[in-house]
Amino acid sequence: MQYFTDVILPIPLQREFTYRISEAEARFLKRGMRVAVPFGKSKVYTALVNKIHNDRPTVYEAKDIEQILDEVPVVNEHQLKHWQWMAEYYMCSIGEVFRTAMPSAFLLESETIVQRNDTANIDESDLKDEEFLVYEALQHQSVLKVHEVSDILEKKKVFPILRRLIEKGVISLKEEIYEQYKPKLVRYVKLSTSYASEAALHQLLDELHRAPKQRQVVMTLFSLSAKTKKPIKVKDLERESGCAVAIIRSLIDKDVLEEFHIQTDRVHYSGEATEASKELNEFQQETLQEVIQGFEDKNVVLLQGVTSSGKTEVYVKLIEEALAQEKQVLYLLPEIALTTQLIDRLQNYFGEKVAVYHSRYSVNERVEVWNNVLKRRSKAQIVLGARSAVNLPFSDLGLIIVDEEHEASFKQYDPAPRYHARDAAIVLATIHGAKVLLGSATPSIESFYNANTGKYGLSVLSRRFGNVLMPDIELVDIKEKHRKKRMKGHFSDRLIEEMQESLNKGEQIILFQNRRGYAPIVECNTCGHAPQCPNCDVSLTYHQFRDQLRCHYCGYQMAMQQACLACGSNELSTKGFGTQQIEQEVKELFPDHKVARMDLDTTRGKHGFSKVISAFEQQEVDILVGTQMLTKGLDFRNVNLVGILNADALLNYPDFRAHERSFQLMQQVAGRAGRTKKRGKVIIQTYNPWHQIVQQVSSNDYASMYEDQINERRQYKYPPFFRLIRITLKQRDYNLVNEGAAWLAKALRQGLGEYVLGPEFPPVSRIRNEYHKNILVKIPEGQSLRKTKDHIQKIRNSFLAVPQYRKVKIVMDVDCY
Ligand code: ADP
Ligand code: ZN
Ligand code: ZN
Repeated sequence: MQYFTDVILPIPLQREFTYRISEAEARFLKRGMRVAVPFGKSKVYTALVNKIHNDRPTVYEAKDIEQILDEVPVVNEHQLKHWQWMAEYYMCSIGEVFRTAMPSAFLLESETIVQRNDTANIDESDLKDEEFLVYEALQHQSVLKVHEVSDILEKKKVFPILRRLIEKGVISLKEEIYEQYKPKLVRYVKLSTSYASEAALHQLLDELHRAPKQRQVVMTLFSLSAKTKKPIKVKDLERESGCAVAIIRSLIDKDVLEEFHIQTDRVHYSGEATEASKELNEFQQETLQEVIQGFEDKNVVLLQGVTSSGKTEVYVKLIEEALAQEKQVLYLLPEIALTTQLIDRLQNYFGEKVAVYHSRYSVNERVEVWNNVLKRRSKAQIVLGARSAVNLPFSDLGLIIVDEEHEASFKQYDPAPRYHARDAAIVLATIHGAKVLLGSATPSIESFYNANTGKYGLSVLSRRFGNVLMPDIELVDIKEKHRKKRMKGHFSDRLIEEMQESLNKGEQIILFQNRRGYAPIVECNTCGHAPQCPNCDVSLTYHQFRDQLRCHYCGYQMAMQQACLACGSNELSTKGFGTQQIEQEVKELFPDHKVARMDLDTTRGKHGFSKVISAFEQQEVDILVGTQMLTKGLDFRNVNLVGILNADALLNYPDFRAHERSFQLMQQVAGRAGRTKKRGKVIIQTYNPWHQIVQQVSSNDYASMYEDQINERRQYKYPPFFRLIRITLKQRDYNLVNEGAAWLAKALRQGLGEYVLGPEFPPVSRIRNEYHKNILVKIPEGQSLRKTKDHIQKIRNSFLAVPQYRKVKIVMDVDCY
């Protein structure tokens, strides 16, 4: 009898691969364990065992697996089911889901190793000096890692030398895998067992008479152990005894003390819960009841609650409920909304039961959360996370909360799977038999439609907590202000007045500008030329901080130019404006007040956000200038004025969601004003004060915004009435993209008819030297999604079978944004 395993490889190929295993391995292996397998000529991948069987593959000879990497499965059945759905729904391979879902440390990288080529006949005189050094080193040890070669040669780039050595047959490359993840170990000490009896201990203390410090250490250890049953850390012993680690070390060397290690977690919250949850007011109470009732016959309930209505406190009650039933809870937020404010708040209620999982955390921290969830440890019973947290190994979810459910950043853009975390969460909940609560002040059109049609439950919380009034929103027509010369830079007299008044009262101010960088575009006044990115089809933007021009798509950068690159004129001007320029202007307008900026440039790194936020919270900063990061669930007590510098930049965007999004963004920013007692003030500057969206924002009228938008969606055949699949072709060769896209669109039309749109170049049609061209497939209600996708897949395969098109990359984006 022969044994085989079908494994999932972390690659885009839509199939599984079969490897040979021994009988013992077959008995040991379980679905969800990782194995290292050879692939291709020399690669080694980490693969996931999916099936164990006895059927020899018919078309190829199965290779042996290299190694088993786990003793127990690290991925569970629920996940595999969910991943399978994700792969099918979002039209990618399950291997791609596997690769995205696991922390990279679980995917064991290949590290290149060079080894001596024993069979070759080497003519040493044929080797150059550096080559000889490597050759010689390999006489002493059979393999070298690339970085060891670097050390020997005292240089970084050794690939060319290695390549020559390979060509000369001196070495060959070997790929080996290694574990990246190293659990953090904490050192502990205990008294050696030979001193366990009291008599032995007394004798020891006598012996240590001449070494008072060592004696001190032993005494301290003794008294610490008497106080607690827990192991004693070396660090604690050092502190309590007041003796240096060297003294402790010498006792360990003498075998008086014994040292041992215990693995600890990096994601560590040592505190207990310190607060009881708040008592809900009558409106929150009513909402809670509606949600619970909704859950009786619906799996999903939408909670529409205006900003500062106390949604979070309602979530907390539902979480308590789920915990009481010993269920796991997933609390999803968009990446940028995951603030320390919220983490602290939840940890106050739930102590160390709360684990945080998002991309700003290190690989090791993510591995720890993964393991805690996998083992169903109570310290990860509530996971607070961004998008990727839907991929964790939950085994018994009871509740998923998707807060700020309207946020576009729940959709993964690149790479595959291009999933929407809200939608993936709903499917995940179905797998677990769990409930989903979607929360937002400004629900997405899709979710509100689902609530309206009865697919989801709905509860509306329309009052701010403490009956604080919704902010007063004033529109300022900047076209007129310009005409009347009432503008200073980008600030109208009205905004300046209000700012002055707030500052006089010692209040803080938030200013919103939806562009980062300083004066994004540099343009020549003489010939109109604007410096372009050489790799992408966009203008470079100016970054004052480094005095550089940079590309926001590929990161290309060059020094700011003194003269026009096209005509040499030195009359360059900057167009458009961003947060940096606003910050600069504020400093000039209010030189006695402190200004800070919050955007991608100032908040890099894990603690980037927290620093800016806590400075503002501590009122070290009077005026905070920022991008959309400011919109997300922040709760500042002392802010009563919010200024939106230019609403039009949001509205004029070529996208069917642009209006919905502008409304959401402006409402959210406005929601930062006046969250406590006083009514807040919002000033929106715009060239089009009569624009319907601006009007709807100013009257806080979600209902008519929804009515307008849903009608437009129906009329122009967009979601939720039609589903969208965007197919993007990418290639460096412009003609190839053009021809290929035409071929593909024509073929698709034969089966899908009028609902195939394009091909068309997107607004930025060249990125990183690749041309992009899009085809949009619209799928009407009632047309089978499954069949449509199968059809697209079939046509894609015939496309890739055309030899010249094989070089074209095809990206599928289901429910594209
Ligand atoms: P939302 O999530 O809807 O924006 P929050 O839950 O952040 O609103 O609540 C806004 C503010 O009101 C917070 O400071 C919160 O602590 C406070 N709050 C909400 N509900 C209560 C309550 N029932 N008792 C006391 N304070 C509350
Ligand atoms: Zn010029
Ligand atoms: Zn670029």
